[in-house]
Amino acid sequence: MAKNGKLSDADLTPIFNGAGPRVQLSNSAAAAWNSLALHKDTVMRVKGKVSAYRTFESQQHFWNLYQAGKGNLAARPGTSNHGLGNAADVPPETEASIKRFGNKCNWDKIEAPGERWHFNYVGGFKRPNPGADPGNPVLRHGSGGFGQDHFVTKDS
Ligand SMILES: [Zn+2]
Repeated sequence: MAKNGKLSDADLTPIFNGAGPRVQLSNSAAAAWNSLALHKDTVMRVKGKVSAYRTFESQQHFWNLYQAGKGNLAARPGTSNHGLGNAADVPPETEASIKRFGNKCNWDKIEAPGERWHFNYVGGFKRPNPGADPGNPVLRHGSGGFGQDHFVTKDS
């Protein structure tokens, strides 16, 4: 099991984030996110550069702010789902996309009820990662399903 906030490059995959900074999630969370990003009716973005995977040091920073009464609710360092690459903080248009379509790709809101921008990857997404570029999705054996189905046709 990878350590919270100390994931290796092999545990992480870049996600589509529009014109925003390059951010990463756990491999299967990223596959699910990038599949959602391929769908024409979704807008998949995160709020900033620490809004997806968050290192232990970054968690410590937010914890310190929270403890000092200067920041949002923060998880104790080493316990955040951001540290496992399985959570994302998103702008309102992505919040709407996840509420509408997240169940197709195993994204949902399961914690932090006071933070409407915080969503979780709930596990179990099995399809290949189409990559972080929706203009050039990478399709492999097993690709298809929500988001990817515009690009995949079945052999008859
Ligand atoms: Zn969050």
